[in-house]
Amino acid sequence: MSDNESRCPFQTQQFGRPVDDNQHSQTAGPRGPMLMQDVHLVEKMAHFNRERIPERVVHAKGYGAFGTFTVTNDISKYCMADLFSEVGKKTEMFARFSTVGGESGSADSARDPRGFALKFYTDQGVWDLVGNNTPIFFIRDPLKFSDFIRTQKREPQSHLKPHWRRWDFWGEVPEALHQVMFLYSDRGTPKSARFMNGYGSHTFSIYNRDGVRHWVKFHFKTEQGVENFSDDEAIEMAGKAPDYSTRDLFDAIESGDYPRWKLSIQMMPESDAENYKWHPFDLTKVWPHDDYPLIEVGVMELNRNPSNYFQDVEQAAFEPGNLVDGIGISPDRMLQNRVLSYPDAHRYRLGVNYHQVPVNTPRCPYATYHRDGQMRVDGNGGGSVDYEPNKMNGPKETGHRFEPPMPVHGDGRRYDEFSCDDEDYFGQPRLFWNKVLDEGARERLCTAIANSMGDSPESIREKMLQQFAAVSDEFAKSVSNKLEEPADEPIPIA
Ligand code: NDP
Repeated sequence: MSDNESRCPFQTQQFGRPVDDNQHSQTAGPRGPMLMQDVHLVEKMAHFNRERIPERVVHAKGYGAFGTFTVTNDISKYCMADLFSEVGKKTEMFARFSTVGGESGSADSARDPRGFALKFYTDQGVWDLVGNNTPIFFIRDPLKFSDFIRTQKREPQSHLKPHWRRWDFWGEVPEALHQVMFLYSDRGTPKSARFMNGYGSHTFSIYNRDGVRHWVKFHFKTEQGVENFSDDEAIEMAGKAPDYSTRDLFDAIESGDYPRWKLSIQMMPESDAENYKWHPFDLTKVWPHDDYPLIEVGVMELNRNPSNYFQDVEQAAFEPGNLVDGIGISPDRMLQNRVLSYPDAHRYRLGVNYHQVPVNTPRCPYATYHRDGQMRVDGNGGGSVDYEPNKMNGPKETGHRFEPPMPVHGDGRRYDEFSCDDEDYFGQPRLFWNKVLDEGARERLCTAIANSMGDSPESIREKMLQQFAAVSDEFAKSVSNKLEEPADEPIPIA
């Protein structure tokens, strides 16, 4: 609430005139028609008609909280970012969690990846790490992104969400299988944000003041332990408590039970990228821990609920291109595309001055030459000079170039530089099946897949069964057998 609003003991119209009656519209006589001169009524209805801003096209259902990141291990010799500068250093932050495919009113318990978006208000500017609860994704080339997302959304004629559309797409895109297996495993239905891990997912870079770069992956492991809903629980929650996870985080923080996640990184020397057995910039792959062990960095704690959902959560604008000195991107195609498309989406949803929304505003001093645009309300630079270079004492560039150059080579054209052999598509899914899942988890994975594939035509099932067989005969056989049985109701699509 603004200061003026909190000081006002009675209701007013939006320009301050006291409201004498908020129960009865002006009419011609007690039973007569309305009068157009009732500006209070018109203002009320006109504002109401404009209350909704465009929903996020993905990650529309979300909730968030403020918190603190604290460094517990010194990585400053690898990364010059201010927020990692010394053990004990604290940085204010904000987190938003979400499902991906559902509308803003959809159920929290849907089988869907979860967004895990973090905003750090560092002394050098805002750093956003906009990840998921999985270290990988379905695709590795952004040219496929809008097609993939449509398969998770509503069918054009019926406005329904049949499951076969996703299997149709995945059947043609074998690099998706790794993430498909994560999605239909137990971790596809996390109990709430408090009980899931988060990952930066892409390969990023860090560098020090000497210009030495490492490629990195960011991992946030929940200190509450991983907990998931079973299929039955998730379906029940979708009806009984569709906002279960939203409430879970809010109530935990209100009661002082602050959730925490430990941040670790995997670090790859820059030169390893050329010859590493897995493509290090392929978003459908992890880096095995044996090759690149986790190195502890710090702990994030969420300890303050937003005071207003729309202001702080609905208008929170995360963007992977919000970086600070010491942290950079990588050639990961998906990441490069997100660097452009996130701010594009924010300008559409929130307008060009979205940096003024308090949750998005840097906490450190900042000075740009941007001026004007819709809803510019922060002084707009006052009378200060609005072009650069100038001799008017306007803010100057620093001249400090810390980020080492990114070597690039080759002709510009459309490449398939991924190896695209069976090992590329199925090697890590096989490791997941053989090494990570126990017998019970494999059984539940196959059941969840078969339930979801129940409405798929034979040609789509065939395509998917071939992929499962490439991972393991046992996997294909188990799904195939379950497809012969009457299917249970799958968890509704988000
Ligand atoms: P590790 O045995 O060292 O790690 C396996 C990882 O799997 C752990 O991080 C574990 O997370 C996670 N995990 C356990 N159950 C599930 C599940 N149902 N869904 C998703 N993740 C789960 O193995 P490697 O590093 O050698 O990797 C082997 C395979 O494990 C990979 O091919 C990949 O499929 C999967 N994996 C690897 C990750 C990585 O970053 N290396 C991360 C996640 C999965 P936790 O420790 O929290 O229990």
